[in-house]
Amino acid sequence: MPWCPTCKTEYGEGTEACPKCGAALTGLPPEQMACLMSLPEEQASGLLAYYEYLGYSCCAVSRNAESGLFDVLVPAGLKDVLSGHAASYLEENPEISRADTQDARELLRPSGSAYIEKSKQLEDIRSTAFAFLVVGLIGLAAVALVIAGILPFPFTGSGKALTLAVMGALFIIFTAVGISNTQKINGLKKEAEAEQAKTRDAVEQFLAAHTASSVDEGLALTGTLEQDYYLRIEKIRSLLGAQGSESPAYEDYLLEQIYAGLYEQAE
Ligand SMILES: [Zn+2]
Repeated sequence: MPWCPTCKTEYGEGTEACPKCGAALTGLPPEQMACLMSLPEEQASGLLAYYEYLGYSCCAVSRNAESGLFDVLVPAGLKDVLSGHAASYLEENPEISRADTQDARELLRPSGSAYIEKSKQLEDIRSTAFAFLVVGLIGLAAVALVIAGILPFPFTGSGKALTLAVMGALFIIFTAVGISNTQKINGLKKEAEAEQAKTRDAVEQFLAAHTASSVDEGLALTGTLEQDYYLRIEKIRSLLGAQGSESPAYEDYLLEQIYAGLYEQAE
């Protein structure tokens, strides 16, 4: 039965807020709750929201009439665990508050998958190719100008010939690397386009066959974003079936794209 943490009164099942003071009720009687810390209102409710995201839904905040601060009440048995979470929450995420659910979810989402999109690889190769070509061609031009007698050179005779030969060879290598990367660009460009089309088609196909609610059907969702994220990703993986994906990294990338399509546009 729900209790008001402030008035220490028990209410009937289904009551969500205390009729006397308006506080959110908790499932545990006051004697089983322990005060973890007292905080200003915004931080206290932010911490409470954080606990809810972690799956601890039985915590409460109660205004302390003496201090004017807000007591964060937690089940006594979880006090140690939750004080550990509180320390890291207050240090690292002072920006999370009840209003920032979007941000909180971004923080809980595993950071980007290891997969590098082909279009990103293309950018890297393009800038490498350009750098090598520029250095190689400017160097060759300088060597040519020295040979033509237009640019001055500190050495004469065999020293000059040897130095120019070595420098010329070096700049030829630079130019060759630049050219070979430029050639790779065309191939990679086609691959990048093919990959984008393939991803787009796969996401569209999935979204045509499934919706967020059909994916959620039969899942034991916990209301904890992190856990639900994994449950949903695994469900999507099994619904996708054996598509014969060539790389696990690409598969994870595709799953994230589908997840985003299912759960992020609806908001
Ligand atoms: Zn109350």
